[in-house]
Amino acid sequence: MDESRLLPRTVKVGGFDHVESVLIGGTYPVSVQTMWKDRLDPSDMEGPAGDATVARVEKLRALGCSLLRFAVPDIGAAEVLGVLASRTAMPIVADIHFDHEIALRCLDFPIAKIRINPGNIGTRSKVEAVVGKAADKGVPIRIGVNAGSLPQDLAKAVDSGKKTRAEALVETAEREVAVFDELSFSQVIVSMKASSIYDTIAANKLFSSRHDVPLHLGVTEAGPLIPGVVRNAVALHSLLAEGIGSTIRVSLSDSMEHEVIAGREILGAVSDSAGKGPSGRGVVLVSCPRCGRNGFDTHAFAERWRDRLYSLKKDATVAVMGCAVNGPGEARHADLGITGAGDKVLLFRHGKIVRTVAPKDADSAFEEELSKL
Ligand code: SF4
Repeated sequence: MDESRLLPRTVKVGGFDHVESVLIGGTYPVSVQTMWKDRLDPSDMEGPAGDATVARVEKLRALGCSLLRFAVPDIGAAEVLGVLASRTAMPIVADIHFDHEIALRCLDFPIAKIRINPGNIGTRSKVEAVVGKAADKGVPIRIGVNAGSLPQDLAKAVDSGKKTRAEALVETAEREVAVFDELSFSQVIVSMKASSIYDTIAANKLFSSRHDVPLHLGVTEAGPLIPGVVRNAVALHSLLAEGIGSTIRVSLSDSMEHEVIAGREILGAVSDSAGKGPSGRGVVLVSCPRCGRNGFDTHAFAERWRDRLYSLKKDATVAVMGCAVNGPGEARHADLGITGAGDKVLLFRHGKIVRTVAPKDADSAFEEELSKL
């Protein structure tokens, strides 16, 4: 183990009632999470709309999302989230600010984790009430520190140059953790998020050298899909490659599905860059960029099959290549591949063509071959 960090303690999320268990910290695999993008209204849980909401949650679970967080701005939102939590095995995280009554209400439901900061919950007795009920229910708590909402004294210290932003983030987290320590509540996870890659890396490195609290990593307000993935990948690789970080969220101004896939890809890239094989990564999708030789729309095919492939629970490399001239050869390592060839489409395994079909039959042939993997 890197001596500059402590092995994080293990925090159990879920694992009660019908809710799936996720172990965060220790040497457990780093989990991927995302956050629901809209307010959950009562109508979202009624009739066919309720079925559609549950189906979307299950889709995220199939894609590899281990925890799903919801903003809970009022008691009404807590009630709706309780209904959803009763209908899915996905561990649901309730994100609460300011009002401890909302946290207490969430804890009446099979909510797997709550996110609160003692610093904005108010009096000590309110914090104690939430922590006491969470302890009784076996529900862990995440402290979420954000560079945009530092305590006034620390924000001033940063502005005057007395502290770095990373030091202020860590000190803010330490103040919050101290409250839980005083209450002997150890099932805590910390996040320290900034939109700066440098601050994100520095804060998490400093905290992990001092504490064994598991870290939830992410660059916040990271932007739309491409800049957001790039910024998160750079920051998270730097930390995860050193063994820092137990769960991640790639925040994007984009869909939850993209956040989950980006998270999986970052974990895969960290593993790949360390020379570890694809074992345990699920499907690794390789596809060619396409060029003037293409006889097959790789972009459309990869997009069409993306969710299906990422939802498969098996390790396999799948290649989507544009032409027969180079495709199968370039993707020799693929367990299954598809490529265009004139007015035909070829399917190949490990560089060898196993099937030739008309373009209209490409998807069904691919499905059949995929089921044989
Ligand atoms: S596989 Fe064929 S179409 Fe795709 S980039 Fe290579 S040469 Fe171009």
